[in-house]
Amino acid sequence: MLKCTSCGREYSMRKPHQRCECGEPLEFELMKGLPGIGRRVWERFSEFFPFELEPELSLGEGDTPLVKSKLSGELGVRLYLKNETLNPTWSFKDRGTYVGIHRALQLGFKRIGTVSTGNMAASVAAYGARAGLKTYLLVSSTIAEEKLKALAPYGAKVIKVRGDYGELYRRSLELGRERGIYFINSDDPFRVEGYKSISFEIVEELTPDYVIIPTSSGGLFRGIVKGFRELAESGLIDALPRFVVVQAEGCSPICRAFESGAERIERFENPRTMAHAIENPHPPSGNAVLRLLRELDGLCVSVKDEEILEAQRELGREGLFVQPASATVVAALRKLVESGVVEEGSRVLGILTGSGLKVLPREKAFGEEVDIKDLLRRADLW
Ligand SMILES: *Cc1c(COP(=O)(O)O)cnc(C)c1O
Ligand SMILES: [Zn+2]
Repeated sequence: MLKCTSCGREYSMRKPHQRCECGEPLEFELMKGLPGIGRRVWERFSEFFPFELEPELSLGEGDTPLVKSKLSGELGVRLYLKNETLNPTWSFKDRGTYVGIHRALQLGFKRIGTVSTGNMAASVAAYGARAGLKTYLLVSSTIAEEKLKALAPYGAKVIKVRGDYGELYRRSLELGRERGIYFINSDDPFRVEGYKSISFEIVEELTPDYVIIPTSSGGLFRGIVKGFRELAESGLIDALPRFVVVQAEGCSPICRAFESGAERIERFENPRTMAHAIENPHPPSGNAVLRLLRELDGLCVSVKDEEILEAQRELGREGLFVQPASATVVAALRKLVESGVVEEGSRVLGILTGSGLKVLPREKAFGEEVDIKDLLRRADLW
């Protein structure tokens, strides 16, 4: 059963419902269960997923490493980083695409699609190819050539769309109904189910006091919260962690609404941040995230581009090369520690959502050129 996250209206699973008539996202009912055994998170937590998951459709997503950050000492907390850059297309999106593609097949669709300029496009293209489905990627006509090159190998059909990119999400659902294409967009109910796997893996290793989540559309946040809630409902954890949304200051519609006490988010005009993966000015799950933050006493932190860059550098210096969108986790934690919100000694978990290789830094490549004969002679080099 699918239920509206706002008005509670229920929808049958037999039809491809993705959003409620009231405009808000739908969600699959809360699952309860016990973990079993298996090498993959999908096997161990199979009772928590809405249908049986096929190993043949998998590209090896999930079961990513949890790394203790070397910044822990300096920040006075125990910081653990969930390294989602190790997924098949280098971001956590693969977890949601894997579950989402089952839904498309279950409903008998032969074609899938998504609206994205980055990580989600690559993920849906890869899993579409894996399942042998025709895949459509709707991208903005202003997309950089570099980003399109990274999508080419999967053989999906890329359609560059002129016009309001924010409007494209809604249009795609309409188009999907007309043309028989299942759009596995950012907050599709079954994509969100896939993201729960992150929470399951986390509690297998530790129970954090805080979980910091880079947030754009809100799909990831909803998935992680739902995962923890299901664990609590099943009696597998005693209490929920405190959930922290982090956004870039230059595009922070959720934090703005949260701070002003508004009930609904408003479109963020003229978004501007280097963290493009979290630059959705009108997030489709924004209101749902806002409700969860209020209900569960969550936090919303926005960080400046300079702080993001600095955090990205710090992570690089401990061997983790992440996208600016992911580095926001460390920038947000620094602010929360400095303002005394996060107490010393807390166990903090940050989600490193995607790889840095997707957005190479603008810094000049460094390196001095020397002749091979001079390597030994030039004492100043060493
Ligand atoms: C998609 C994405 C996010 C945000 O996820 P939402 O589900 O849209 O909130 C954060 N970081 C990276 C790298 C992403 O690709
Ligand atoms: Zn509704």
